[in-house]
Amino acid sequence: MAFSKAPIETPPGAPSLTHRFGTMAVHAGSPHDPVTGAVIESISLSTTFAQTAVGKPVGKYEYSRSSNPNRDNFETAVAALEHAKYALAFASGSAVTATILQSLDFGSHVISVSDVYGGTHRYFTQCAKAHGVEVTFTPEIEIDVRDHIQKNTKLIWIETPSNPTLRLVDIRAVATAAHEHGIKVVVDNTFLSPYVQNPLDHGADVVVHSVTKYINGHSDVVMGVAAFNSDKLQERLSFLQNAGGAVPSPHDCWLAHRGLKTLHLRAREATINATSVAQALAASPHVISVNYPGSDSHPHRKIAIKQHRDGMGGGMLSFRIKGGEGASERFCQSLNIYVLAESLGGVESLVEVPSTMTHAGIPKDQREAVGIFDDLVRISCGIEDSEDLTADVLQALEKAVVFPKIQNGLAVQNGHVE
Ligand SMILES: *Cc1c(COP(=O)(O)O)cnc(C)c1O
Repeated sequence: MAFSKAPIETPPGAPSLTHRFGTMAVHAGSPHDPVTGAVIESISLSTTFAQTAVGKPVGKYEYSRSSNPNRDNFETAVAALEHAKYALAFASGSAVTATILQSLDFGSHVISVSDVYGGTHRYFTQCAKAHGVEVTFTPEIEIDVRDHIQKNTKLIWIETPSNPTLRLVDIRAVATAAHEHGIKVVVDNTFLSPYVQNPLDHGADVVVHSVTKYINGHSDVVMGVAAFNSDKLQERLSFLQNAGGAVPSPHDCWLAHRGLKTLHLRAREATINATSVAQALAASPHVISVNYPGSDSHPHRKIAIKQHRDGMGGGMLSFRIKGGEGASERFCQSLNIYVLAESLGGVESLVEVPSTMTHAGIPKDQREAVGIFDDLVRISCGIEDSEDLTADVLQALEKAVVFPKIQNGLAVQNGHVE
């Protein structure tokens, strides 16, 4: 009997894979079925697995919360793409955050960048305290991280790029300071995906993702993942994955794994699209400023060149429109292709106004201190054609920004007397 050519060997968690990203995205954690030859894994819905004798399972599986084939394969693929030994999948990105915080001892201290994802901020300020963990926030972590380190500081939490202003943090600079004190560094890499940035290569100890965004990439799964190299962390976090039970379904793991196989294609296309939209916005007289890490004018462009693949900017950008809140709302409503919705990282382009949508929970003065004004618009570029996305933005700008008219002798712009 002839066997088909074995797929590329990717033993679980092997950090030394020699293949390039696209090859690993397609093949890591994707062996063909040794019995049927099926090229695509089946969805293993069984919650329990037979045993041949008491305490002797047929294979490696016993009960699906503890582990199952689809989750294992997805975790193997993410570990390979994040250059990690281990990856653990959870029911959401938020469940990853909660589990990591729960892994800390009572009385631990955490330092976090100020402009973290809203749900992360909510967990840090409203849940972590209940299990004895205090969090300090700083807007300038590279500058003052050492000033915030206490005897009980156990973790530093970074999000780069930040949401929605796309500020970057030098991971290596923060990791160097943290490691002098035996502190671990977590990087939320959701906004760039493992294709554009691999935080472990820059000194981070743990990289986390909301799989809901770029990794799944099709806006149809809520899921999260953490990847890391430490055997001790694997022991602790896999214990909590099973004990806490915030695990993804086999079906979701299968979908997210399918999405992951085209991540490199989607991330490249989204970057091409965001680059051309950012250029069009920057050239428009209706725009105050553009935040895009792929632009040479970005204040942290040097970090992007050092940390991102080929200095890529990714698919996310934000900008301030002239004419205030009214103009940002009219802009969103005038777009034909972009969908007005929260979330990001899908094949379809999305637009939102953070001050009234994703970041509405933050008091106005705190929001504006980190650049989230009422006229800020956030765009997630999908993989449509860049000419269409750019043209749509330009026509919506024209509709949103009404030119000054002389009314009763006063210049009136956008309905507001100036
Ligand atoms: C969406 C998101 C999360 C939370 O993930 P969920 O899957 O929605 O729980 C965390 N971090 C960032 C940067 C996100 O965009």
